[in-house]
Amino acid sequence: MSETTKNLAYWRGKSETIAKEVRPFINGQFIDSLSTDYFIKHNPADGTVLIEPPAGAAADVDAAAAAARVAFDKGDWSGAAPAERKAVLSRLADLLEENTDDLALLETLDVGKPISDATSIDVPLSAAVLRMFAELADQINGRTLTTDNGSFAFTKRYPAGVVAGITGWNFPLALAAMKVGPALAAGNALVLKPSELSSFTTLRLAALAKEAGVPDGILNIVPGQGLTVGAALAKHGDIDMLSFTGSTSVGKLLLQYAGQSNMKRLLLECGGKSPNIVCDDFPDLDEAAMGVFSKMFWNQGQVCTAGTRLLVQRSIKDALVERLVGLAQTMTPGDPLDPATTAGPLISRIQQDKVLSYIDHGKNSGARLCFGGEQKTGDGFFVAPTIFDDVDPGASIAQEEIFGPVLAIIPFDTVDEAISIANGTIYGLSATVWTVDLAKAHAFIDGLKAGEVTVRGAGSSASGAALGAMPNQPFGQSGFGVEMGLEGLLSYTSVKSLQIFT
Ligand code: NAD
Repeated sequence: MSETTKNLAYWRGKSETIAKEVRPFINGQFIDSLSTDYFIKHNPADGTVLIEPPAGAAADVDAAAAAARVAFDKGDWSGAAPAERKAVLSRLADLLEENTDDLALLETLDVGKPISDATSIDVPLSAAVLRMFAELADQINGRTLTTDNGSFAFTKRYPAGVVAGITGWNFPLALAAMKVGPALAAGNALVLKPSELSSFTTLRLAALAKEAGVPDGILNIVPGQGLTVGAALAKHGDIDMLSFTGSTSVGKLLLQYAGQSNMKRLLLECGGKSPNIVCDDFPDLDEAAMGVFSKMFWNQGQVCTAGTRLLVQRSIKDALVERLVGLAQTMTPGDPLDPATTAGPLISRIQQDKVLSYIDHGKNSGARLCFGGEQKTGDGFFVAPTIFDDVDPGASIAQEEIFGPVLAIIPFDTVDEAISIANGTIYGLSATVWTVDLAKAHAFIDGLKAGEVTVRGAGSSASGAALGAMPNQPFGQSGFGVEMGLEGLLSYTSVKSLQIFT
């Protein structure tokens, strides 16, 4: 079927027949969970029951970790030539693209994102991430060092071992690719737990990995809930490293679990409250408005790097706010299976209630509500894009991660004041600056506590190549460790210092 005829009827028809796998994938096959508990997972678009999957069990994790250990120790994957790992991961990227419709549909059903985003961004981005790590597989090198004792001193890098991954629900397939890509390119075995709200595409990814040639036991998926599967992984005594993408509060729990168990190494990619800073020298307010708007409202604000605080120089504030309200009026939330829909629902009723409660805080905080502020009608978990102006930098809507479509606008007068407000939260994930003054741009680049700073652009979120290649090391309570890029690949290795005396 041609792309133009893939209309709402096509996607609805396909959603009736597509297989919705929920079983763990361990040692190369889908097996039944040992859990006897089940939970209900709703379709975010209409609130109906989508599936009733098992909650998952610690015994599932034990089985997956054991399979991963055997496969890792066997050495077929860790000892394979980098070119072989590269070929397999590249083939997996190809298979993702060949299965775009299935993966995109499963993603949309699970999390409610518009099908047009799932087909044009999520699947190609995930394939690009895998391909990027495939290309880097032979770039894991040691160094030779100068010594004063006559020895030959050098370093070598080895896979970290059995790695666990735990991911959130906002970009399920892409987040899975960001764990599978580096973990497997570096020669590790992986046990991956997707969010209980979004496990379809991660499970499909595992089946495609087998088809691509990933050996049994090297990639295992254990779906289930955080308190069962997630905690069991984090407390497991035979997992060498845990790579996490999720909230700061769960990241802090994982630190405890690692300390209570085997002190496994952690890589934590957590929450954010990122600033978009617009200076009055920026010549094109329409361009800035579009960038601020998309960085804030894309994926309904359910993006870790979303620009949820707009810091705008006072003299241009009203003109920018007017443009943002105009853009918000053009957003038409609708059925995410309709290719014309550009705004879907939030992930769950719980998330919708949380966002609406923050909107109430905003209304009671003295901030000025310029747009939105209400739940959309219907049974899906929709919330209108919401814009608050004149927000106190200390207010909860300017300090806490809402993870929904709520923008807090804060005026500033000087660059120093903007940097101080921007740095005034517990987070430090990302920042965007709108200026054409090079000196000012560098002052922001050096002063902002953020793992990535973008000058004049909507940021890397929607750009596969940039997102794939650029390392991100969060500041503050946005986490720690490096993810993505060559530095991110090295996070999944251990370095040994070696000296030979002759
Ligand atoms: P979450 O922290 O609630 O859940 C993330 C994962 O942790 C899920 O798989 C969940 O089941 C698991 N989990 C929950 N409780 C656990 C426990 N006690 N022990 C072990 N695992 C547990 O996050 P979420 O709501 O799924 O995702 C949204 C969050 O993710 C936001 O804070 C967002 O900023 C963050 N995020 C960060 C990045 C990044 O790269 N920094 C990217 C995407 C999302």
